[in-house]
Amino acid sequence: MTAGGFQPTPGDLLGLDGEQTELHARAAQAARERFGREVFVRGVVEVSNYCRENCHYCGMRRDNRSLDRYRAEVDRLADLLIHHRPASMTDVNLQAGEDPVGAREVALPLIRLLRRHTPLGVSVCLGTLDHPLYEALREAGAEIYILKFETADAGHYTRCESPGTLAERAKHIRQLAATGWFVSSGFIAGLPGGDVEGLLQSARFAADLPLRGCSVSPFVPGPHTPFAGEPTGGVDLALNCMAILRLLRPDWVIPAVSALNIGEPGSGYRRGLRTGANLVTINLTPPDLRADYVLYKPDRFIMTEERILRALEAEGLAPSPTGLAEHFHHSVRETGIIPVDPR
Ligand code: SAM
Repeated sequence: MTAGGFQPTPGDLLGLDGEQTELHARAAQAARERFGREVFVRGVVEVSNYCRENCHYCGMRRDNRSLDRYRAEVDRLADLLIHHRPASMTDVNLQAGEDPVGAREVALPLIRLLRRHTPLGVSVCLGTLDHPLYEALREAGAEIYILKFETADAGHYTRCESPGTLAERAKHIRQLAATGWFVSSGFIAGLPGGDVEGLLQSARFAADLPLRGCSVSPFVPGPHTPFAGEPTGGVDLALNCMAILRLLRPDWVIPAVSALNIGEPGSGYRRGLRTGANLVTINLTPPDLRADYVLYKPDRFIMTEERILRALEAEGLAPSPTGLAEHFHHSVRETGIIPVDPR
């Protein structure tokens, strides 16, 4: 489903410093027509920073020996999410490096507890796992799987040492969707070695996958990675990609990612909301663990509930009382369309 057969061009990606306000305004309008002024609010908890992968862009890559590795305690996270979660959040995302042990020993029992004691919708972002483990996570009560493909250029994907191959990643996305998960994905704008044509390819690749949403993160060079000395991808490029995605898929859930704040603390995030984003994320990882969950910069600008609510209010938006998982179930009931592989 595309808006009037929208065909993105390289020109849509190139405008900087607000030159693309018209494109962004069209994207925001498409989101408002579909979702009104409500924005989904999800909390994220980073459950493990162990990672068997070695992605060139990511600070949690296995070769980064400067991190203290942790797997969070289930009871501690359960107490936080059951008794002390922000009132505005309807969903939680459990995120980790690619760590099957953390998925089994932390995420799985935590999901069971959340299902029993909270109405939260549960998303997971745990990398490519084996099928019995996906099944166990779903049976425990998780419903949304976030599996990012990072770049749709297969050679670029391999040169960045992203997990496995692009074809395998896409196969997992399709299999997750075919086995009942609501699947979301994502790619990185301005990843070293990529170009504008590659980004358009990523937007089209995403639109052809059986997805319910997709994120775009600006590349941020992190210390202790092979890309440490590379230039940042830039917020404008990421926003232009987000606008293109929104116009390709008005029905999608597209987050304003916290990396939009790099270089523009607070305001990059608000620009995301002005470009058709309809999901915000409150970071709930306990501060003592957060310091070692390093995707790019150790000094991340942390999105608290207060900052989120202030940004929404300033943009004339409001937290959605309907959760993400609930929204996906409704849209299946309304349209009768279940997420199938479009191939
Ligand atoms: N390990 C899991 C996986 O592979 O799906 C979970 C996600 S991973 C820990 C976090 C995500 O952050 C990556 O998929 C990537 O999209 C993003 N990321 C990592 N390093 C980044 C960087 N330097 N700049 C922007 N985004 C980055």
